Amino acid sequence: MNNSPISKISLEGRDFYVKRDDLIDPFLAGNKYRKLYTLLKTPSNKLHKIISYGGTQSNAMLAIAAMCKSKGWEFDYYTKPLSQTQKSFSHGNYFHSINLGMNHIEIAEVLYKDFIASISITVDATTFIIDQGGAVEEAKKGLEVLAQEIREANLEIKSLATPSGTGTTALFLALSLPEFKVYTTPCVGNTEYLREQMQALHELPDNLVILEPLKKHHFAKPYPEFLDIYKKLLEAGVEFDLLYAPGMWEALLNQTNEEILYIHSGGVSGNESMLKRYEQKGFY
Ligand SMILES: *Cc1c(COP(=O)(O)O)cnc(C)c1O
Repeated sequence: MNNSPISKISLEGRDFYVKRDDLIDPFLAGNKYRKLYTLLKTPSNKLHKIISYGGTQSNAMLAIAAMCKSKGWEFDYYTKPLSQTQKSFSHGNYFHSINLGMNHIEIAEVLYKDFIASISITVDATTFIIDQGGAVEEAKKGLEVLAQEIREANLEIKSLATPSGTGTTALFLALSLPEFKVYTTPCVGNTEYLREQMQALHELPDNLVILEPLKKHHFAKPYPEFLDIYKKLLEAGVEFDLLYAPGMWEALLNQTNEEILYIHSGGVSGNESMLKRYEQKGFY
């Protein structure tokens, strides 16, 4: 794999650079590609199965499904029960993952928590479990590779940005690039929660800057202002995801003024489903 390219875009009168990790692959792209890097480099015959669990719209799920397909590994994915309507969709991350060969296993709501906790007890040596969101120490290597690519680009830029769910990406990026400032913002919970998640992995370095969202947003809920930023970015020449990127761009536009290299975190494959929800709400 060659280094992902860097694009320059103009947004609200400011220039930004974008590290195009979205272009790595249609399904296995963005930070999920970086986080799965160690597994991608694992010889196919060392494993036979990957197990993971979580939401049925997840970008991580789709990335793992694409990886397993290319590796010839089985992929068992556990979720809470899914509605027939969602199962019948012929778009979105779930649809694509099933097409890539994912075994979807539904666990009753009341049993779910205990079941997930028990998975690791029964697995053999050639089965690997990826925890929800892929917040694993293994992600470190893949983000060091990204850090190296950023250094090689030799841009006269001292600030990077990428949005956070678990914060794994932003944290390991900041640790790998101490000479850069790394901006992030919480897209799933609040700042407090993000800090806790990150601190469980590593002490927070000084060059990591968590921007506080001006307004509280619920994850994966449609907001007109998010659609607005999405459209502006699309006009500027790059499609971003609708769940994480809008919050990050909003924070950057309001709370920074220097030149920034934005690390595209992928997730564009989920937009089709999300745009349909915007339409249903009458926002589009
Ligand atoms: C998973 C994901 C994130 C969050 O990554 P973390 O490492 O969990 O912080 C951000 N953007 C997109 C598009 C994602 O799919």
